[in-house]
Amino acid sequence: MKRREVIKNLSIIPVSGVVLGSAIPFESTSAASAPPAPKRDIFKELGIRTFINAAGTYTALSGCIMHEETVETIRYSSQKFAAIDDCQDAVGKKIAELCQAEAAMVTAGCWSALVLGTAGVLTGMDQQKVAQLPHLENMKSEILVQKEHNHGYVHALTNTGAKIVVVETAEDVAKAVNEKTAMMWFLNYAGPNGKIQANEWVALGKKYGIPTMIDMAADSTPVENLSKFNKMGFDLVCVSGGKGLRGPQSAGILMGKKEHIAAARLNAPPRGGNIGRGMKVNKEEILGMYVALEKFINRDHQAQWKIWENRIAVMENAAKAFPGVTTSVTVPPVANITPTLSISWDTTKIKVDCNEFRNRLRKGEPSIEMMGSKDNLVITAWMLKDGEDKIVAKRIAEELKKASA
Ligand SMILES: *Cc1c(COP(=O)(O)O)cnc(C)c1O
Repeated sequence: MKRREVIKNLSIIPVSGVVLGSAIPFESTSAASAPPAPKRDIFKELGIRTFINAAGTYTALSGCIMHEETVETIRYSSQKFAAIDDCQDAVGKKIAELCQAEAAMVTAGCWSALVLGTAGVLTGMDQQKVAQLPHLENMKSEILVQKEHNHGYVHALTNTGAKIVVVETAEDVAKAVNEKTAMMWFLNYAGPNGKIQANEWVALGKKYGIPTMIDMAADSTPVENLSKFNKMGFDLVCVSGGKGLRGPQSAGILMGKKEHIAAARLNAPPRGGNIGRGMKVNKEEILGMYVALEKFINRDHQAQWKIWENRIAVMENAAKAFPGVTTSVTVPPVANITPTLSISWDTTKIKVDCNEFRNRLRKGEPSIEMMGSKDNLVITAWMLKDGEDKIVAKRIAEELKKASA
């Protein structure tokens, strides 16, 4: 069997009755499925540190590792010419089908989806307005955002020239709506903190005839989220390609109503003379994003979850064995929905603070990255390759042992 066939067969082994553990090459990126050793080790050559990622999908840590199939798509498409509009048309149609949206396009990350989607709402198909952005004289210019959603990501919206109008309640929305109101924006991870929930936000948008947009960047798990907000009635849905979806780190998805996607594309490359010209995606990312999304949607999500849990257990057990160590495993209610391990300790028993501990793991061999504060370590397993949970567990135990002396 060819390597790929082997992987395909392994990944359809039913989960029940199989001893689950990180040895199953389910989302494998390790030995069994790894490409042959590179001819040129460019990281080494340039002296760039690489590491085991027990932190998660962080932009600064280069996000995620793409599946071999996605990388193959990128390699293959890099060797042929194709018109960008043809790629966006064909891939947009497929993504829309997969996510039950009317239309879709690939963007340069979720941030770019936010900018382009907003730009499209402001300009519609008016070429004059496209050229005018970010100067909104004689155009709609206000975006309603709940107070608890008014975080740094709104800068993507204000890039278009629009200004944010902060609201808290449905009454505030009623008062704020006027002829300048262009859009109502919802930040999914802030959802539980706001006074107005997603479905009510959509209903208010419909009531006042204002398009609604949701930023669900890191919320691609559970998989239902990818269609949920389209079905709920959001006019535009923005997703990161390079987080849980494991697509190209510099790609994302904008999906929603046909008219808005068409208008967003007027503000985006390959067209110039618009605010989106710098947010370029080429054929490799457009096709790579599609293949990554397809693979993500079709995977066995339950089996995947089990693998993450098992990896977390391996690391948790290694830490728990030390007196004075406390662990907990939780799943965030929104954003980065994956089992998340927190480790802390009594510093009279383990004589190091958690910042210094993470520093030791970073400087160790192999280098390991995780999150946390002075008082805890925060670890996820979804960006680990097979077997790396054991390496992380071993390094945690080694450093805990040293510090407990
Ligand atoms: C990561 C993130 C973004 C930006 O997404 P990119 O894909 O990195 O451009 C926007 N909004 C939220 C809530 C995010 O978490």
